[in-house]
Amino acid sequence: MSRTLVARVSAGGLLLLGCWLAYTQNQGGQPPPLTLNKVKDDLYNIEGDGGNVAVYVTGEGVILVDDKFEQDHENIMAEVKSVTDQPVKYVLSTHHHADHSGGNARFLPTAEIISTANARANIVEHKQSNAPPGVAPARVVFTEECSVFLGGKEARARHYGRGHTNGDAIIYFPALRTIHTGDLMAGTTPLIDYPGGGSVVEWIKTLDAAMKVDFDTVIPGHGPVTNKAGLRAYRNNVEKLRDRAAGLIREGKSQEDVGKVMIAEFGWSPTGLQMQWSLPGMMAELR
Ligand SMILES: [Zn+2]
Repeated sequence: MSRTLVARVSAGGLLLLGCWLAYTQNQGGQPPPLTLNKVKDDLYNIEGDGGNVAVYVTGEGVILVDDKFEQDHENIMAEVKSVTDQPVKYVLSTHHHADHSGGNARFLPTAEIISTANARANIVEHKQSNAPPGVAPARVVFTEECSVFLGGKEARARHYGRGHTNGDAIIYFPALRTIHTGDLMAGTTPLIDYPGGGSVVEWIKTLDAAMKVDFDTVIPGHGPVTNKAGLRAYRNNVEKLRDRAAGLIREGKSQEDVGKVMIAEFGWSPTGLQMQWSLPGMMAELR
């Protein structure tokens, strides 16, 4: 592995870790600044702090994908207002983590929030051990697929199976051939949230099913907008990680030894959530 790749992979691990730490670090301070980038036509992406927020503008209102942390609400609204006067009518939620659903409580009085039934249950049951208090669940849920039709446009949320959690939704904008993956693609290395129902084995099948959709542009849960080849490379890396871990487990290696290889070869942070949430569950699943 080249030094550049090692540096990139480590940065990805740190990015993911940093996203979760941002909440605690900013208590009482100013929320970090956000930036809005145009993806295609009437679709924008708000980056910075928490997960990527997709903004789909229609003539009858705005559809968001995810809403970052609660502290980001005013800044998200300022970015939306910079491109449209339309109100936010719907928030399609990719999963229960507070860096994606933390702003739900602020949107619920004026918008409908839609998630998978499992994502809602994970919030209600406080499955994210480090989530701040007050993350509000969606009022409308689905188990397989749910579309919002607004202003002559469609946003389609679908649960393809387990992966990052047991309630991940991928949001598809058919007219723009663009998807928002939630954390089924995030940074450069996967965080498998076993306490939240995640699975490294199912993750690969889930992405294989999603890859069959007709799209060319990908908004990941965290990190820069990419394309279908970028998602395929990410999927292949999840498979490589699974195969490497399974091989080590077959050789009888301990959890500690497998963890060292994940740190060295897949950019896991020695003190990050992957060591807490992914490693023990992965050992059990692949054994
Ligand atoms: Zn997540």
